Amino acid sequence: MTVPEKNHAMDAAGRPPEAHPKEHAAPGSVPCDHELHLEPLELARIALVAAAIVLVWLRVWEPLEKISLIGLAAALIGGWPIFKEALSNLLARRMTMQLSMTIALAAALAIGQFLTALVILFFVLAAEMIEGLTVGRGRQAIGRLMELLPRRAEVRRQDAGREVAVDEIQIGDVVLVRPGGRIPIDGVVVAGGSAVDQSAITGESMPVEKVVGAAVYAGTVNQSGVLEVRVTGIGPDTAFGKIVHAVEEAEKYRAKIQKTADRLAGYLVYFAIGCALLTLLVTHNIVSTISVVIVAGACGVAAGTPLAILGAIGRAARQGAIIKGGIYLETLWRVNTVVLDKTGTLTLGQTRVMAVETVRGVSEQQLLEAAAIAEARSEHPLARAILEKARESGTPIRVPEQFHYTPGRGITCVHQSQSITVGNAQLMSEQGLDVSSLERDENTGTLTYVSQNGKLLGALLIEDVSRPEAAAAVAALHRQHIQTVLLTGDTQAVGRRIGRELGISSVYAQLLPDQKVQHVRRLRGMGSCVAMVGDGINDAPALMEADVGVAMGSGTDVARESADVVLLGNDLVKFTQTMRLARQCRRIIMFNFIGTLTVDSIGVALAAMGFLNPLLAALIHVGSETAFIFNSARLLPGGHFVGNGRPNGEGKP
Ligand code: ADP
Ligand code: MG
Repeated sequence: MTVPEKNHAMDAAGRPPEAHPKEHAAPGSVPCDHELHLEPLELARIALVAAAIVLVWLRVWEPLEKISLIGLAAALIGGWPIFKEALSNLLARRMTMQLSMTIALAAALAIGQFLTALVILFFVLAAEMIEGLTVGRGRQAIGRLMELLPRRAEVRRQDAGREVAVDEIQIGDVVLVRPGGRIPIDGVVVAGGSAVDQSAITGESMPVEKVVGAAVYAGTVNQSGVLEVRVTGIGPDTAFGKIVHAVEEAEKYRAKIQKTADRLAGYLVYFAIGCALLTLLVTHNIVSTISVVIVAGACGVAAGTPLAILGAIGRAARQGAIIKGGIYLETLWRVNTVVLDKTGTLTLGQTRVMAVETVRGVSEQQLLEAAAIAEARSEHPLARAILEKARESGTPIRVPEQFHYTPGRGITCVHQSQSITVGNAQLMSEQGLDVSSLERDENTGTLTYVSQNGKLLGALLIEDVSRPEAAAAVAALHRQHIQTVLLTGDTQAVGRRIGRELGISSVYAQLLPDQKVQHVRRLRGMGSCVAMVGDGINDAPALMEADVGVAMGSGTDVARESADVVLLGNDLVKFTQTMRLARQCRRIIMFNFIGTLTVDSIGVALAAMGFLNPLLAALIHVGSETAFIFNSARLLPGGHFVGNGRPNGEGKP
């Protein structure tokens, strides 16, 4: 799963070019960049400041009348990282929280309020530690996903089984997986049989039966029998490794709101300093001035925003939706129109041939044989139905020498100098064939025509059922006031039937891939923010054109690579859940924005009027910030990765 470049300019939807996701977070660009972790040095610093608070309070060893040596020393040593950061910010002409805190601390020390300075410093250090830990936990929740794979595996070499570290496994080795064990590698079953819980990879809730020849995936759980698996992929090259990689990469594609948050945090610092100067000029009260500087916090915005985004992406991954970057999460919450493909997306793609109709003089067998040759290499759901039918009736399936697929139309191929065409009415009329004799009420399925050497053989009526959850998913979207649009390459009759069945707002049928793109472009042109959900090769261009492209897990590789969000498995409800999650993420971020502005302005006003002393100001600053950080942290996945996780705790809801 690589992340392809979007081919349309990001700014078409009002996203300025600099918000292009390629950009990395520049270190230190955030006014409060909490990279402190629970390191011994940090703890020692906090302990030193705490001890100094007690000593200064008890007035232990005060040789100088005006200056508390212990207080001064502890403040300088304890606050050293903050002062250092402030100095480099000053040199870089950047206004940051460290700088304003340094000013406040220096001012407090200058007027001899050593105890105040120490307590403020203690609060600030403790808050930084809590925030650092919370943000760190978010990173770990995602960064540690790979560790879910077993570290050791039982390998069979020269008939002897022995346990080795996973790093030592090579492609081609045979690995033994016992019941209850998590499969450590991607591979093919060579002996044994079992049911495997694949929810971590595909999101399917039901275990899948595995027999010799079946593919198994790293991270899935073997349930009942012993499996011997020939290794085809290890570590990052496994399907699981690629999912984890996509989630890890997600942090690089920053949301625009993160830039807004950084800017807002910067303004808040200026605002606090400006108000402090004003307070000093008007009241000449240094203590009030210090309180004004101290009371205004911005980390709920600056650190809280990326944390909420990280949490939402992590939680979405656990629920079975891989969001390839913060910018796509942000787009998801703005989406007001969802465009859905029909075959494979709204329908199960479990197509079945319901009827075979031939022209006079052609046998059913002849028609099936020709159709099967054309479809032998196709991955389209219609092809699956035709091949299945051919197999049932004992028709040999041969592979054509030449093969051409016109997405949205059908297939032309050449086999033993016979040319065969299988597709819809348009494709036939392009070849000068009139299919009106075979046409009938299509309400029940898709008519697929077959011709050989320019002669019409007949048609297959292929039915597909809509996904059981599709109607509920569409209804859930409507409840979120999201408009739904069905775009299909199938006929008007079939399109309208599915549309009616599922309650979709508008239906457009008989579309070529290019026309799907046109429709998405038209919707975006009308000011809609469009998510496109699809699965096929024919959907890939429209997935790229949409503001955010969503691929079904069962979809083609092309669709999954073109998409910005990939659903593991095929549950459309996962998509509506992800939409809800995105909106919840926005609400949390907005709450923190508004909350921070409110607390800061009320705090600054109270401090300026002399109602807050520096200690109370620090308490408000640190308390509110921590609350906002915890608010953001709500989205962080609590336990481990997707689904089952039996050996790792949390089960499915
Ligand atoms: P959707 O937009 O509903 O996913 P497609 O664009 O994949 O549908 O296909 C549109 C129409 O093109 C189908 O209804 C069918 O008539 C024809 N078609 C596409 N692929 C094939 C194929 N492999 N074999 C026969 N017909 C096909
Ligand atoms: Mg499709």
